[in-house]
Amino acid sequence: MTRELKIQNNLTRKKEVFKTIEPGKVKFYSCGPTTYDFLHIGNARALVVGDLFNRVLKAFGYEVNFVRNYTDVDDKIIDRARQEGRDALEHAAIFVKECETDMNSLGMMPATHTPKVSETMPEIIQMIQDIIKNGKAYETEGEVFFHVPAFHDYGKLSKKDLDSLQHGIRVEVDGRKKHPSDFVLWKPAKPGEPSWDSPWGKGRPGWHIECSAMAKKFLGNTLDLHHGGVDLMFPHHENEIAQSEAANNCPFCNNWAHNEFLNFGSEKMSKSLGNVIKIRDFVEKYGGQVLRHVLLSVHYRARLEWSEEVIQRAIDEVKRIHEFALEAKSYKAGGDYSSPEISECIDKMMDELANDFNSAGAMGHFFSFLRNVKGNKDQLSPASLEQVQKTLKFVEEALGLVNKDPQAVLEILKKLEQDTSSSGIDATQIEALIEERKVAKAAKNWARADEIRKELAQKNIVLKDNPDGSSSWTVQG
Ligand code: AMP
Ligand code: ZN
Repeated sequence: MTRELKIQNNLTRKKEVFKTIEPGKVKFYSCGPTTYDFLHIGNARALVVGDLFNRVLKAFGYEVNFVRNYTDVDDKIIDRARQEGRDALEHAAIFVKECETDMNSLGMMPATHTPKVSETMPEIIQMIQDIIKNGKAYETEGEVFFHVPAFHDYGKLSKKDLDSLQHGIRVEVDGRKKHPSDFVLWKPAKPGEPSWDSPWGKGRPGWHIECSAMAKKFLGNTLDLHHGGVDLMFPHHENEIAQSEAANNCPFCNNWAHNEFLNFGSEKMSKSLGNVIKIRDFVEKYGGQVLRHVLLSVHYRARLEWSEEVIQRAIDEVKRIHEFALEAKSYKAGGDYSSPEISECIDKMMDELANDFNSAGAMGHFFSFLRNVKGNKDQLSPASLEQVQKTLKFVEEALGLVNKDPQAVLEILKKLEQDTSSSGIDATQIEALIEERKVAKAAKNWARADEIRKELAQKNIVLKDNPDGSSSWTVQG
């Protein structure tokens, strides 16, 4: 590797030069989605950031073994399947397929392995046995708990210590636990739930153990890089470390990276807050290229505030990039023009990406390049022309911000323009305002909620609040 890649390592809370266990090879794990419903654009941020890491590592010449799991056994899946009158595993399988459709629409490169919990039971059970054997877990009435005080490094990622944790935890009535921080590794089956045979009777794993077991199965005992949303740092990632190190007696992972949230109206976009936009719905209207562009236009460690302006800027940029990509196919060398913007663009983008995956910085250089090439397109030297094609290829491969089929991207945007101009109403903008009003109402910010109602009224939109808490809208004739 000629260029050093630096990554903010949340284990040390420092930006560090990335070193791998085996030269030239990266063992990379990213926590994937729970497949109980359609994914929302907050989930998309985590997925696209994982994809960015995978692509950039490859651009740096690494061979990447990239594992991203599906949580297909989980309480939320069981509850939702019951509501829908489906078997839980069948319900999860349907949404694994739907997730794959969404990931494809976001132009994600396939991961090396995409394991599911339901297919990893022998490894999960073996790992729990190893933890018990090493004295860090115990069984009681068919349930297995990890004993947190037995693992002295607990809290090394989240920087929490056991004493402060204990203060935070309500004294639990659960007399089966030896310590209130102990967490479940295996739980006994309840009627109607999916279950597997184990040395502790029929049951299913707790959430955290799956990632420890899948990481070990495909990457070995020690990983180079682990990623997930910032909400997963505690307890999920802390517990992954505890389980893996207790089972394997060696460090679990050398680098931990977390993406920040996608926020909506100053709150995290999440199902429980009811302020979600599904990937599927957004992509149907704007195409996946626009969503990908929004998500990579901000550094992964910065919060991303979802707004109409952010979407509009992404639409404009995606249009410029793809009009350029299309036009550049027919460029000819017509002179001897060269410039640093053209000859050094890839290098500069690599420098930005080497600085903790700064996709936004890399895009800045790409736009300088684009302006410079367009301004001199008739005088490009043969070397400059070659560099134009190489640079487009680089952005396509390392960032996925140039689509292989620029024409298809432009057609979606053209249709969008026609729809907006024919109705004079931008439905997404209205829905965004309605969502913001819902968040404002939940926060008892009545002034903002009223302001939004008025703003909508000025656009001739009539709002109707439904009994289930949702709002529908119509255009006044
Ligand atoms: P879940 O299906 O809730 O377990 O989430 C799957 C992944 O999406 C995790 O890595 C979460 O951290 C991430 N995630 C969920 N909501 C958001 C959000 N609003 N912004 C960024 N990442 C999110
Ligand atoms: Zn995980």
